[in-house]
Amino acid sequence: MATKTQDTYDVLVVGSGASGGWAAKRLSEAGVKVALVDAGRPLRITDLNEHGSGLELPYRGLSSEIVRKTRPVQKECYACTERNYDWFANDLEEPYTTAKDKPFSWQGRMRVTGGRTTVAGVGARVATATRQAHRRIPAPLRARSAAAALSGSSATG
Ligand SMILES: Cc1cc2nc3c(=O)[nH]c(=O)nc-3n(C[C@H](O)[C@H](O)[C@H](O)COP(=O)(O)OP(=O)(O)OC[C@H]3O[C@@H](n4cnc5c(N)ncnc54)[C@H](O)[C@@H]3O)c2cc1C
Repeated sequence: MATKTQDTYDVLVVGSGASGGWAAKRLSEAGVKVALVDAGRPLRITDLNEHGSGLELPYRGLSSEIVRKTRPVQKECYACTERNYDWFANDLEEPYTTAKDKPFSWQGRMRVTGGRTTVAGVGARVATATRQAHRRIPAPLRARSAAAALSGSSATG
């Protein structure tokens, strides 16, 4: 629920996705007083249930028509399923327009904190997104150099 506050901030970041979330983190770490707002609701731990059985869902995860009723555009996105469709913008309540000759299927319009990071996933499969985020460390990025050192060649990388 929204609350009123008298606090003042140095920076207001709008949107808590990868862009806004990261900006808020870095600014806060630098000592800036940041307010982060998002049009979506906070995710609850109970929302993170994509590895559960589809049998727990009212339509067993099989009814794309249920999703399409309120998210006809969002449903075109493979990650918008019976399990998580209320994370996505309601296309009927929040429509958008395009130029007549330039139709655009604007998928992945999220309305939860974290934005699209909540559904993005490298190698995501049809049923739902996997939410993998690959964290890079120096070792794999230097694998070629390490292999070259072992074989005695001069490759770098
Ligand atoms: C299904 C899917 C899979 C993807 N897979 C990958 C992948 O494997 N690898 C990869 O690199 N990228 C992937 N992406 C793309 C990546 O997720 C996005 O590029 C990135 O997360 C976008 O971050 P953002 O902060 O720019 O925007 P968003 O994540 O869209 O964040 C915008 C935020 O702003 C909020 N907001 C919107 N309007 C307002 C308003 N008026 N007031 C307040 N808040 C507002 C929204 O609620 C949302 O939380 C994928 C995207 C999708 C949809």
